[in-house]
Amino acid sequence: MVWLSLSARVLLNVGALNMVESVGNYTRHRRAPMVIHDENAGTFTVRFVPAISGESIAHAYQVHLTEFAERYSLPVCDRCAVGEFVKRGVQQHIPRSLSSQASKKASKKTGEDAVTYAHNFEKAVIKECVVEDVAGFLYPFSTVPVKRTSCIQFGYMIPALDNVAATALEPEFHVRYTQTAARGEQAIYYVEVSSAIYVVSSSLDVSRIGYTSMIKREPAVSSDERLRRIEAAINALYMTIGQGAFGAKRSRSLPDYQVLSMIVAVSRDLPFNVRSGHCAEYIKETVKAAKTFREITGSEVKLIAYVSKLDREMGKVEAPSDEVSVVDTVDNVFREIKRVVLEEYRNAL
Ligand SMILES: [Zn+2]
Repeated sequence: MVWLSLSARVLLNVGALNMVESVGNYTRHRRAPMVIHDENAGTFTVRFVPAISGESIAHAYQVHLTEFAERYSLPVCDRCAVGEFVKRGVQQHIPRSLSSQASKKASKKTGEDAVTYAHNFEKAVIKECVVEDVAGFLYPFSTVPVKRTSCIQFGYMIPALDNVAATALEPEFHVRYTQTAARGEQAIYYVEVSSAIYVVSSSLDVSRIGYTSMIKREPAVSSDERLRRIEAAINALYMTIGQGAFGAKRSRSLPDYQVLSMIVAVSRDLPFNVRSGHCAEYIKETVKAAKTFREITGSEVKLIAYVSKLDREMGKVEAPSDEVSVVDTVDNVFREIKRVVLEEYRNAL
């Protein structure tokens, strides 16, 4: 198997990337509870902090995947192609190859037939939609519900634990003004914006792309197409986290997005997960953990890191260059990921 794990610290200033509701003329930013250590009190306490949901990030990821699908000549179903990621959540969204009357009847069968139908369903969806291949789907309407667990995972983006004091939420005043000030033309409204050093984490089960996994493991596409799907999946991750292209309100509240540092592990044989960027030593800690992981499991782990000048100076983030491949830009992290996955680990995919 080949598994990719990523964590990054991002300085995000004045953004409204994940809004949850409007109350009158007030639009609220998403908040989430976070347990932090109160050094003065010597105890733990809960604080509600600005957050960006994994759903929000995953939505953008899937949109990027549809864009790359075109470039790599990969199939995408009609719903995903327009950014409606219903993904078999409605009864009529069944794969084209199973849409006949006979197949509809088969979906009602029980026992071994129902299991076979579920397997064929998963295989057919993987074949006809790369988005659902990589990001999963759930069809709950057959006798055996068909579930494909997402190969890509995103957590909530929350402020870094060691810098939670540098977190702010503020409602910004806006007004639509007209000279004539006719009734209903002028409007006052507020948009909450957040600034923080966020941590974003993700993992990608590269080996499952293009293979069925619910009932049994079986290739659903040719090996050549599978490699193109894997490349598209990594590219979409680059657009999402490397380029920061995700979230809402980008037309008028485009935030300043700077990746301060990032660590990525690509492991073969068993999944290795990096330490999250909540403490400044996370890259050093990951290097240590990878060493032990290799000793315990015999698996291989390649580490790639990027540390900006700011994070080196402000957060004392370090990457020991003899044990981790340190690159000079965040973009080069993704170039190196592609090289390791598609060249070095090609035989393990
Ligand atoms: Zn689809």
